[in-house]
Formats: sequence, C-alpha cells, structure tokens
Amino acid sequence: MKYSVLTVGDELCIGQVVNTNAAFIANLMSGLGFSVFCHSTIPDEPSIMKSELQRLMDNSEIVIITGGLGPTHDDITKGVLVDFFGGQLVVDTNTLSYLESWFESRDRKITEVGIAQAMIPSKSRALNNRVGTAPGILFEFDNKLILALPGVPAEMRYIVTNEFLPIAKNHFEKFSTEVQQFLTIKTVGIFESSLAELIGGPENFPIGTTLAYLPSAGSVRLRIGAIAASMEKASELIDEMKNTIISKAGKYIIAYGDDSIQSVLGNILKSNGLTVSVAESCTGGMLGAAFTDNSGSSAYFKGGLIAYSNDVKIEQLKVSKATIDTFGAVSEQTAIEMARNISTLFDTDFGLSITGIAGPDGGTTEKPVGTVWIGVADRLSAKAFQYKFGNDRSLNRERAVSKALELLIKKVNEK
Ligand code: ATP
Repeated sequence: MKYSVLTVGDELCIGQVVNTNAAFIANLMSGLGFSVFCHSTIPDEPSIMKSELQRLMDNSEIVIITGGLGPTHDDITKGVLVDFFGGQLVVDTNTLSYLESWFESRDRKITEVGIAQAMIPSKSRALNNRVGTAPGILFEFDNKLILALPGVPAEMRYIVTNEFLPIAKNHFEKFSTEVQQFLTIKTVGIFESSLAELIGGPENFPIGTTLAYLPSAGSVRLRIGAIAASMEKASELIDEMKNTIISKAGKYIIAYGDDSIQSVLGNILKSNGLTVSVAESCTGGMLGAAFTDNSGSSAYFKGGLIAYSNDVKIEQLKVSKATIDTFGAVSEQTAIEMARNISTLFDTDFGLSITGIAGPDGGTTEKPVGTVWIGVADRLSAKAFQYKFGNDRSLNRERAVSKALELLIKKVNEK
C-alpha cells in the first residue's frame, strides 16, 4: 500500500528551511508498513499543487500534504483543495469553539484570522490541533485518504501522532495486501565498497528483500527492506537477510536500528558501570558534545578539556613540554599523554584524546592536512592510532569524533 508526501512552500524550495516534515512522516509511515510512491516538494503555486496532487493520488492510497494551511495570502492549500474536490469552505464548529476558548484563556476575543483557521473544505473533516490553531484536514474516498497539515513541525507532529496514526493503522489493516518492513544495521571500521564485496550482490539475498548502503563519516548503515504478505513473513525475511549479513560482516556490526554510535557506546559504558573523559584539540569540544547528545550521559561521561593550544596542553593537561617539543602536538606521544592524563585528572576508567591537523592550513609533507592521532587510555595503559582522513576540515573533525567513539567501543568490548 503506497503513500506519498507533498510538502508545500517556497521556503523549502529555495533551501531556506530543511524539509524535516517529510522525514518525520516517512519514518512513521514506513514503520506502519506502507511503501512510498513519491515525496514531492513544490513552491506556493496553486497550478503546480493541483497537478502534483492529481499525480500522487493516481499512484498512492494515502497522500499527506504539509504547509500552506494558514490564513495569509501565500497559504494556498485550502483554496486548492476546494477547487480540486469541490464544495466550499465552511466553519468547523468544534474547531471554532476550541479556538474561541483558546483566545479566551489568553484574555482575547477571537480574531478574523482565528475564525479563518476554523474554516475547512465542506467535503473534509477536521483533525484536532492542540498545539496551534490550524486543524488537520482529512478527505476520505473509497480506499484513499488525503490529509492536509500545517507546515509548523510541532503542529504537524501533534496531528499525525495523536489524530492520524490510528486512522492510518486502521486503513492499512483494512486495505493492505502486502507489508513492507525495514531493519537498519550499523557498521564501523570498514568502507562501503569493502562491505559490499564481503556481502555480495542481490543474487545472495532472499527473494523479497533489498539492501541499501548508507555511508556517513566513519560508519556505514545497511538498511534491509522486505516486502511480504504479512508482518510475520516480512520479519522472517528480514531475519534471514540479517543472519546472512552477520555471517559475512558480523565483526563490523555495532548496532541494530537507528541508534547513533554515541548512544551505542553510552549504553555499553552505562551497563558496565564505566566512565570516560576526553581531551580534545582539533575537534574543539565535538567529542564531548557527541557524548552529551545522549540524555543520561552523566552516568558515564565525566567531562573534558579542550586543549587547543600547546600552552593548555602543557599547563592544564600536563602533557610534557619535552614531548611536544620533540614529537609535535600532532603525534603519537602527545595523543597518548593527552588520553592518559585526562583519565587521571578526571579519575575515569577511560580517557580519549584527539589531536590533529583539521586543515585547510597547517599541513606539512610529513604531517599533511587530515593527519589525526587518537589516543585511548584505560587505568593501566594507553595507545594511540594515526589516521589520514583528507582535506575537508569539517569532515576531518567529524571522522575523528566517530573514530574515537569506535575505538572506545572496541576497547570496552575487549575488556
Ligand atoms: P500557519 O498556520 O502557521 O501559517 P502553515 O500551514 O501555513 O502554518 P507554512 O506557513 O507553510 O505553514 O509553514 C510555517 C513554518 O513551518 C515555515 O516557515 C517553516 O519554518 C516550517 N515548515 C513548513 N514546512 C516545513 C517542512 N516541510 N519541514 C520543516 N519545516 C517546515
């Protein structure tokens, strides 16, 4: 059963606003078992909206529109829906009384704009919006649902999650003849091309499954998809494919699902009662930020020191001046001292350090831009690893953080 998303707004088309609504809806709909026909993003232009809506409706059972529901001149959605489906705009009495009390609770009388928000196409029904003023608008025909939602992400999320989800589930159970399921497997420490060689081509996959490679700095996610007549059958296919991947590339897998490396690491540290601290130079706090992305990280992350200058490395982090003078700030010896000293200073089970040349300047023939040393220390020993990433400053920093997390996962798993 197919769904489509139609996101409306000039701001999306010129790149001013990132289309997070489409991602949220897609995640939810694929979780329910729907397959996608198309995601389409269009400007605030009624003729384009009409033709696009027709195309999406011809090819999908559910079309979800976001944006342009407001009362200003650039909000085109309601007008287009009335033109498209016929009828006229009428007051939805439930929405109106909700809006009246909404204004009243703020000691205000409802405005004309407020009343306009309560107008919906006569052939639709309103879905409650309790975090804003524009209700969702739902059309139901035979086996098709067309839903129009406000563009504001929090309002869109509220209506989809609280009002539309049960309707979509029910629709799926009633009309679907096949189910789609996904499983994401997260790998680290191997390039996409090498992973593809290990796993082999589609001829090795169970019939009805697909495999997609999603590389990012420092890790590759594998997304297994399965289409089958029932959830049980789809789960069986996913398991079969998962086992094939484990047998071929199991040692590179660090997590299942969409968990980040830091949350996987956080869970491992927490469940083992272990703590970590960080000493960062070229990443300027990004490693600490990665750890603190996870709520509850105070259970295992004690803190860090941004030792960007040599003075701070020497005075605060107690790296020996002789080490820096002899080997340089970007060196195995400095990375080791940084990792060891931070774990001692902060009294943690592990210390992680990053020192490198992020670029674009500062490289030499011996230590080109992209050279990064990462140190990992426990209470007994410390080791550092060299990487030569590349020329892009921001990618180098992202990769360094991701590698440091990966190294610590390995280290903890060794214990
Ligand atoms: P309102 O009733 O508040 O006018 P609306 O339905 O008219 O809502 P828009 O005016 O299209 O919504 O969008 C409101 C804001 O919501 C935009 O300025 C933008 O910041 C955000 N927004 C709109 N569409 C998206 C989207 N697809 N993804 C993320 N944010 C979006």
